[in-house]
Amino acid sequence: MSEIKPTEKTATEDNEAEQDWKAAKAFFDSLKTKVPRPPKPQNAVTIAVSSRTLFNMVAERKIFEDEGVEKYVAFQVEHENDPLKPGPAFPFVKALMNVNTRLRNLYPDSEELFDIVLMTNNHAQVGVRLINSINHYGLTIERFCMTGGKSPIGYLKAYMTNLYLSKNPEKVTEAIEEGIAAATMFMSKQESDLSDTQLRVAFDGDAVLFSDESEIIVKKHGLDTFFEHEKEFENKPLAQGPLKCFLEALGKLQRKFYAKNERLNCPIRTFLVTARSAASSGARVLKTLRSWGLEIDEALFLAGAPKGPLLQKIRPHIFFDDQMFHIEGANELGTISAHVPYGIGQKYNKGKLIETPEKKESGGIGEGSRARHEMD
Ligand SMILES: [Mg+2]
Repeated sequence: MSEIKPTEKTATEDNEAEQDWKAAKAFFDSLKTKVPRPPKPQNAVTIAVSSRTLFNMVAERKIFEDEGVEKYVAFQVEHENDPLKPGPAFPFVKALMNVNTRLRNLYPDSEELFDIVLMTNNHAQVGVRLINSINHYGLTIERFCMTGGKSPIGYLKAYMTNLYLSKNPEKVTEAIEEGIAAATMFMSKQESDLSDTQLRVAFDGDAVLFSDESEIIVKKHGLDTFFEHEKEFENKPLAQGPLKCFLEALGKLQRKFYAKNERLNCPIRTFLVTARSAASSGARVLKTLRSWGLEIDEALFLAGAPKGPLLQKIRPHIFFDDQMFHIEGANELGTISAHVPYGIGQKYNKGKLIETPEKKESGGIGEGSRARHEMD
């Protein structure tokens, strides 16, 4: 399994970054504007979203695939005054902005806020339509990163990204391998009414918040061995999974509300939605969270029952899971879902090992390289 690597930086890099930020801050300070200044990455909780997750670009993508990049860019330029429709990450981004408004009221001088970065390899010509759409919806997205076909990983690190959302599973996998919390987003099949006062985030446990070490036991030895194993190691915390750091970042902002006596009125709520059962394997995950000093507002143990109906009641702005059948089930019932391509679950479908044909070496433009070049 891929290891979660911490991001390492040298002292010189830190120093250069510090100077860049001083210059940027001086520039913003010299402007007279009501637009809030973007916070420093080391203070902010940075969320990078691709253009196809923020906006629904299904029709545009079809032009790109069927007619090529020139026609695609021409179409985008021709329609640059038509705002794009909201995409899967749109309600989540709106909810982040609502939390920021509450934080700014409580802490006018603090930079501990969500900072949203638009991370796209779209052609610069398409940027105008993206900017127009962002302004149309009144979104506060000041940072644009147009990677021009290059991998976004370097930029994700430079922005100290706490969460990266994309439609491209290859880029998401690459980000996870570099230790960045990331997920592939899907549009839900139906619309559901989401809270506009509270950001609601639901996480699966194994291979999302936690490593896949226990999932491996289930897949290889079955449930009975797993129950025995979890009982035996109840007091040994699980290793961290790809999304643990994002839960940690949410917790940091939640505590700012608690410090102002706003616990009951906190605009961030977190949920653990796990297929584990409480009695036989629940204690280990709760003890693991406790050992990390992390709180989760609600822990729901489904004992193997489908997650979709429960998520329908929770109505999260985003639900993270490593297994596609949970994502599909949640999606069918109107939950906006994000797939975390990590761990042993990627080799299985509905409990069965997926037979993968041996990879052929190819010199031409195959599926993989086309996926890398698609506009995200
Ligand atoms: Mg899982």
